[in-house]
Amino acid sequence: MEDPRASADLIIKNAGQLLTCSRDAGDLIGLIPDGWVAVGKDKIVAIGGEKDVRPYMTERTTVLDAAGKVVMPGFVDCHTHVVFGGTRAEEYCARLETDDLEELRRRGVPMGIMVTLSATRGLPEDILFEQSAERVRRMVISGTTTLESKSGYSLNIEGEMRQLRINKALAEAFPIDISSTFLGAHGWAPEMTKESYMDMLIKDMIPEVGKSGLAEACDIWCDAGHYEAEECRKILEAGREHGMEPKIHAGAYSYIGGEDLAAEMKMYSADHLNYTPVSALEKLAKSGVAGVVLPGIDFAVNHPLFFDPRPMYEAGLELGMATNCCPGCWCTSMPFIIALACRQHRMSPARALRAATYGGARALRREKEVGSLEVAKQADILILGIPTYEDIAYRLGDNPVETVIKSGKISVRNNAIVA
Ligand SMILES: [Zn+2]
Repeated sequence: MEDPRASADLIIKNAGQLLTCSRDAGDLIGLIPDGWVAVGKDKIVAIGGEKDVRPYMTERTTVLDAAGKVVMPGFVDCHTHVVFGGTRAEEYCARLETDDLEELRRRGVPMGIMVTLSATRGLPEDILFEQSAERVRRMVISGTTTLESKSGYSLNIEGEMRQLRINKALAEAFPIDISSTFLGAHGWAPEMTKESYMDMLIKDMIPEVGKSGLAEACDIWCDAGHYEAEECRKILEAGREHGMEPKIHAGAYSYIGGEDLAAEMKMYSADHLNYTPVSALEKLAKSGVAGVVLPGIDFAVNHPLFFDPRPMYEAGLELGMATNCCPGCWCTSMPFIIALACRQHRMSPARALRAATYGGARALRREKEVGSLEVAKQADILILGIPTYEDIAYRLGDNPVETVIKSGKISVRNNAIVA
């Protein structure tokens, strides 16, 4: 009988640079020159050089020639707020002129999360879906194959559930996997006190979201003026009791101990880390918590203290990297984020690429399925029309992605979704 492993549905041959981005890659990205990869159904069945892969070729195998191109895993965008209503272009442009927020308030410029809250609450579900879907479509053609998407722009039970339902609908509408996160603690509802909102969050919202099965993780914004570390503990422990794993926005504008809590609770990830001291980075690394860095938001808000990745590597932290697509940072492109990470934060292209693939998968605890090209992993593969991976960092604002293979199927070709 024919060995089913010995036949591939799809083979990519002759890749100028094939990047596996596997966990133990000594160069961080597992570069194989003249690389070949074979796909059977939705999984990778062989990878390496021609001699490793050619035996899987039959007359019914689709063969793509990637000579002179880069082949790599699909991007894992592990931190986004992509489901929101409206736009904050007016605020963004006003803040190009000045960092004096008081002056902008006096001028009556609408600003901040509450603007998005009312825009999101006010939209019918189908329109909110459409507005979010346009962003997700752009993510897909830019090579994102796994996406994290948070709720958090409604801060009431109906609205938060609606955002989570849209996450599910987006995953059904596009060739993308979505890791759905409940972020009811993005702030608190303007019509309530923080204390009464927290009470409702713990007693009503978290149990209902948990029961729905619409979110795999529970997130919170820990910062001065937002939630204190001890408040985060209460909320995230309630989330865990209802089947949602904790993650945290920490150190974005102040260090108040959210990172230490992340280590103690062994959270999925701690995200932002602009103000995080080395002692807390070391705790995170030791506890197996991933760090997530967000070059786009530092750029978009002209952050007073850009995150510094060097002490993070030195502490041994596995880093994910994400667009943080949100109304304050309207970015759908992981290649642009890689370019920013390299230029603005002096990450090497190899470090940035690893964070955009394996590291992101690690932050979502999906590294056994996605984020790297290895036998038995999901076949989420990009073919880039550039000769070297460094060109992702070098060619600013380009979309280098020519072909996206999602779960073994060609899903994007030349900037259009085909499946
Ligand atoms: Zn965020």
